[in-house]
Amino acid sequence: MSTPKDTGNNEARVGKDFIRTIIDSHMADNRYEGRVHTRFPPEPNGYLHIGHAKSICLNFGLAQEYDGQCNLRFDDTNPSKEEQEYVDSIQEDVRWLGYDWEDRRCFASNYFDQLYAFAEKLIHMGKAYVDDLSAEEIREYRGTLTQPGKPSPWRDRSPEENLDLFRRMRDGEFEDGSKVLRAKIDMASPNVLMRDPALYRIKRAHHHRTGDKWCIYPMYDFTHCLSDALEGITHSICTLEFENNRELYDWVLDTVGEFPQRPYQYEFARLNLTYTVLSKRKLIQLVEEGHVSGWDDPRLPTISGMRRRGYTPRSLRDFCERIGVAKSNSTVDFALLEHCVREDLNAHAPRLMGVLDPVKLVIENYSEDETDTFEMPLHPEDESMGTRSVPFTRELYIERADFMEEPPKKFFRLAPGREVRLRYAYYVTCTGVEKDENGNITEIRCTYDPKTRGGWSEDGRKVKGTLHWVSAAHAVPAKVRLYDKLFNVENPAGDKERDFKEHLNPDSLKEVQARLEPYLGTVEPGWLCQFERLGYFCSDSKDHAAGAPVFNRTATLRDTWAKIAKKK
Ligand code: ATP
Ligand code: MG
Repeated sequence: MSTPKDTGNNEARVGKDFIRTIIDSHMADNRYEGRVHTRFPPEPNGYLHIGHAKSICLNFGLAQEYDGQCNLRFDDTNPSKEEQEYVDSIQEDVRWLGYDWEDRRCFASNYFDQLYAFAEKLIHMGKAYVDDLSAEEIREYRGTLTQPGKPSPWRDRSPEENLDLFRRMRDGEFEDGSKVLRAKIDMASPNVLMRDPALYRIKRAHHHRTGDKWCIYPMYDFTHCLSDALEGITHSICTLEFENNRELYDWVLDTVGEFPQRPYQYEFARLNLTYTVLSKRKLIQLVEEGHVSGWDDPRLPTISGMRRRGYTPRSLRDFCERIGVAKSNSTVDFALLEHCVREDLNAHAPRLMGVLDPVKLVIENYSEDETDTFEMPLHPEDESMGTRSVPFTRELYIERADFMEEPPKKFFRLAPGREVRLRYAYYVTCTGVEKDENGNITEIRCTYDPKTRGGWSEDGRKVKGTLHWVSAAHAVPAKVRLYDKLFNVENPAGDKERDFKEHLNPDSLKEVQARLEPYLGTVEPGWLCQFERLGYFCSDSKDHAAGAPVFNRTATLRDTWAKIAKKK
């Protein structure tokens, strides 16, 4: 059966994106015998970021939806930049996102022998030749968008001579860069990529998997399509920058032949996100120059950074679904990502109490020896999460910002003479404050009403404010890292005048010494919760330990960037 030529890449029809529309039509005409086989093809030269998550969710998601398969393929043709550390982190991230490649972990380097044989085949066919021009000469000969290129003087070598030279390239006879194998296509093609592109170059570099076996390495455009075909991929999905490469993808597969059910390439718009950068080259700079603490710094848009920050796989998958797949580039507001995180955590994260900027609250009519214990729900709307015990004593900590000596009109929290509710505990009324010699408040005094146990009054009396609190004697001191956006401007990479790093936000990390309720001193690293009224927090996966808690702020409770409300 021959595969019909695909003109593909139609805009989405109603309800489905253009890729699903194309796959539906292939299912309908039984192309590939109803198979859908995709791949996610990272180059192991950096950590994955949220843009990659979009590609992962698309490729693995399609396989799930159409009962197909998705390969994890490492595109490891560039030996000097690739490292095992990256391979490991990529696998961890894909798995964490919730996807499984089963036994289909592939490496382009596994196909080096086959790729080499295909190159010899092209030489035999008169479709590839060894060129002695230098890289610079090749660039000059290539022409421009408005001018055709001119043929290399070596273009018409015989297949025998080419084969001999290519084998000697492989055997290490020639210097790095002194020769390349090129496809013989069309030096006047309007598509510059089709003007006899390089297929193989000489490069003496140790490869993380093939060691020193090879001193010639295949180029991306030759490797990618053939790897797809060898793996039985049906739909090879990539980002729009590769639109011009499609013609070459098709040329290589059609010229090599041998693949009756060959794959086709489809391009979608890459994800761009405000207030961050999504380019490995830029992310590497931030890490290597020490602007962040590492690849998993919670401020980075890397998957490992987001994981450490407390973003959940479910919220990232939800985000990728909402932004959808389209054919034109656009920039997504970071606020949408945070919105997805909040929506997930609002439903699933337990709620506890912690005080980030503590000031003492002393209850004058509460006995010094007494400790009361309140059994509080871990989530007010989800009983299945259970409860925890919270001790209550005469001396508590409350948030400094929850008290004002001279409150303005709309301030409903604590002030002299005013009564408020302590969450799930009692009503208290402020009787005065103590100050140090500089006039700073050192403690707030109050009385409590024993007839309000549980946080509601027997006589139906209402109060406007509810404060979170912790018992001073039982509070667990903790380091809390408050993260803000990494850059000050929406598009740091878009500034032509200044380096993107000049737009780094100097206040993107603030550390405070907080006091937390005792339960929070017992949780494992990587534990997610809400600190009531303050935001979502996650115990740090690296630095948190029992007895020395460290929490990261995952997100504030509301959108502080106030964009999403306007756009929706
Ligand atoms: P960078 O340009 O940042 O170096 P890359 O695209 O070269 O990244 P790869 O490892 O080659 O990184 O990417 C693996 C897959 O992820 C490719 O199919 C690529 O198209 C896709 N991808 C990379 N960045 C994005 C993005 N921002 N949005 C969607 N898909 C992306
Ligand atoms: Mg790439």
